[in-house]
Parts: sequence; structure tokens; C-alpha cells
Amino acid sequence: MRNVLLIKYGEIAIRGKNRYLAENRLIRTIIKRIENFPGYMVYKEQGRLLAVNEEGDFDYEKIIPIVVNILGVIAVCPGVEVEDQDIKSLQEKALEHFNLHFPENSEEGLTFKVFTKRSDKRYPLNGNEVSALVGGYILQNREDVKVDVHEPKVKVHVELRNNAYIYSKVIPGRGGLPYGSGGKALVLMSGGIDSPVAAYLTARRGVEVEAVYFDSPPYTSERAKQKVYDLAERLSLFTGNFRLYVVPFTQTQLCIYKNTPPVKMTILLKRAMLKAAEKIALKNKQSALVTGDSIGQVASQTLEAINAINFASEEVTVLRPLTAMDKQQIIDVARDIGTYDISIRPYEDCCTVFVAKHPETKPKKSIIEAIERKIEGLDKLIDEAVKKAEIVEFGG
Ligand code: ATP
Ligand code: MG
Repeated sequence: MRNVLLIKYGEIAIRGKNRYLAENRLIRTIIKRIENFPGYMVYKEQGRLLAVNEEGDFDYEKIIPIVVNILGVIAVCPGVEVEDQDIKSLQEKALEHFNLHFPENSEEGLTFKVFTKRSDKRYPLNGNEVSALVGGYILQNREDVKVDVHEPKVKVHVELRNNAYIYSKVIPGRGGLPYGSGGKALVLMSGGIDSPVAAYLTARRGVEVEAVYFDSPPYTSERAKQKVYDLAERLSLFTGNFRLYVVPFTQTQLCIYKNTPPVKMTILLKRAMLKAAEKIALKNKQSALVTGDSIGQVASQTLEAINAINFASEEVTVLRPLTAMDKQQIIDVARDIGTYDISIRPYEDCCTVFVAKHPETKPKKSIIEAIERKIEGLDKLIDEAVKKAEIVEFGG
């Protein structure tokens, strides 16, 4: 017998033929995230994953907090693996497991019920018989607990497979699709509240994300950049490795500043960001750009403004996962994933430097494009900025 962690992953089922790839990808992500703890391995075991420690006992307190945060994991269950499936052995191991997780007299009025799943139909007892015999044995040995068949506080699960598995705690994970099973995207990430949430929600649909940050020193500070680094580090909890491109954007921004009426600057700047991001995405075979725009939040996020910005990226789709969310919903997610406190640190971002107090709210795409075309050397500056991008890796 050994302690193990059963890992449940659900939504993979909807992915048809890709299921196999998605499962392997999830296994690799989990292994990568726990590789700093020697001896731990992850296997596929009849429709679920099983983590074990081959060099000693399983340290649940260290491993569980990491695994529940990995996207695609529905739940984890600390349990035991039992090779000898004789009923006597199942009874003893179930009791031992129960005692470990629910020590005697630790909880008043503790009730339980045993559930048995039997995938090996040759087993001499049926599921109900196993449940009754295991439940009866726990009851005999624990005076402080009772059986409640309707609303048990603890559900003890016995699963008879190649080996038997016994578990009684189901700790929810973040759910979603396994990270990396749904293609690749590049997130435009500022230090604000919104774009890290957009990155997370996209990653939760299985899309492998990398991020790009446009840095405009000395108008934006080191500390503003550090904020983005900290956000990237935080996001790597859910994704494993997380790559950030830092694009030096001062020259591009100054060029736009000199050649554009202040009320139109934001739009041109956002277009320049999309153009630069598109170049990176094309190079990395990323099939979408992702932004944290939410309709109506600021002047550059009216439908007209989005329309005037959107087509700056000609070949790569721009996704805006937050468009229909209101600020409170976005903040709730940001709190849940731990990016909120980082995002609200008070440092300027590049859009607050230079920009008019009241930018145009209904810019016309054709006029914006005409102004943009007249700015000499803009495309070249964008090109150079992308070439000078610095790559910073997080979570490795
Ligand atoms: P956020 O909270 O993500 O900063 P916001 O509500 O402040 O968004 P804007 O500043 O208008 O809105 O930015 C809209 C989107 O443009 C951001 O969500 C982000 O995707 C992108 N963006 C803005 N500034 C930068 C930057 N310096 N680097 C990368 N992307 C940026
Ligand atoms: Mg912002």
C-alpha cells in the first residue's frame, strides 16, 4: 500500500480525437510543476491521473497546492493504492486511510458512507457488498462515527481497478481545459487589472499563452515593469512556464506623439502595439492576440475605438475575452487568481504618459488610418522595436 494523489480532469472528454494529446500535455505540465520535488511521478491510470512518490511518502501539503492550480485539473483526491484487493485487505486499508484523514474524535457528529466502483467485473463481490463490508469494518473500529446513507459528511470511495484506490477527500481544482491543448496566443499585458485576467481566462480554455509588454523608459519606470514581471510570475502558477516579451517602445511612442493630434494618440498607440504584437505572433505561430479591453471602460474602449484599433492586426485575430464583463466581475477574478494586489500598485503605464485628458470617444477608422499612413518611418520603428524585444521567462 502507498499514499497517492488521484487527479481528476474532466472537460478533456469534449475534445474527441485530441483527447490523447491533451492528456499527455496535462501530465507533462504537472510533472514539470512538481519536478523540484524529487521522486514524484505522474501516470495515466484508466481515465484519471495518478501522482506517486517513488522515493518516499507522499507530501500532500507540498504537492496539492501546486496541482490544484494547474489548469485542466478538476479535483484532486489524496488516497491510497492497494495491491491486495482481498476484502480483508480493503477493510484494513480503508480504516487506516480514514483514521489518517479523520483522526478519532477530531470532529463531532462525523458521518460517512462508503461508495464502491468496480471496473473489474470478475471481482467476487459486487459494489454494494464491498461498500457494506468496508463500512461495517470502519464502524466497528470507530465509536465516534456513524453511517448516514442520505447526507454523509464524508464519502469514502473504493475503486477497484488494476489496483484498488481508496479516497475520501475531493479537493476542487481550477477546472478548464488542459493548458496547451487549444493552440497558442499572445497576450498584450500591461500592469493593469484587466489584461492578466484576460490572459488567465484564455489560458483556462486550454490556450497556451505568452505575453508582450510595451515598455517606454524613462516615461515608464522600472517599477512599472517589475509589476508586469510579478504578474507573469503569478500567472505561471496556473500555466507552468510563462514567457514575456518586453518590447522597447519609447521611440515608437515619441514618433506617434510628434505626429498625431493628442485626442487621437491613444488609438494610434494601441494600433502600433497590435502591429508589433502581430509580428511576434506570426513568428511564433500564435494564432490570436489577446487584450484586456472591456467595452465602455475607458475612452479607447468604445465600440468605435475598438473598431478603429482592431484591424491594425491584419493577419492575426484579436480576442477580447473581457468585453462583456463589468469591472466588478473582472476584479473578482483578479482577486481569485492573486493578480489584483499586484495590479493596483500605483505606477504609471505608457498610455497615461503623453495622452490627452479627454481622448476622442468616437474615432473614425478611415481618418485614423490616413493619419497613420502619413507618419514617416513608423513601420520601421515598430519593426526595430520588435527586433530589440527582450525575452524573460517565468515559472521555470
Ligand atoms: P489593463 O487593466 O489591462 O491595463 P486598461 O483597462 O487599463 O487595461 P488600457 O490601458 O486602455 O485599458 O489598455 C487596454 C489593453 O491594451 C490592455 O488590457 C492591454 O491588453 C493593452 N495594453 C495597454 N498598454 C499596454 C502595454 N504597455 N503593454 C502591453 N499591452 C498593453
Ligand atoms: Mg492599463
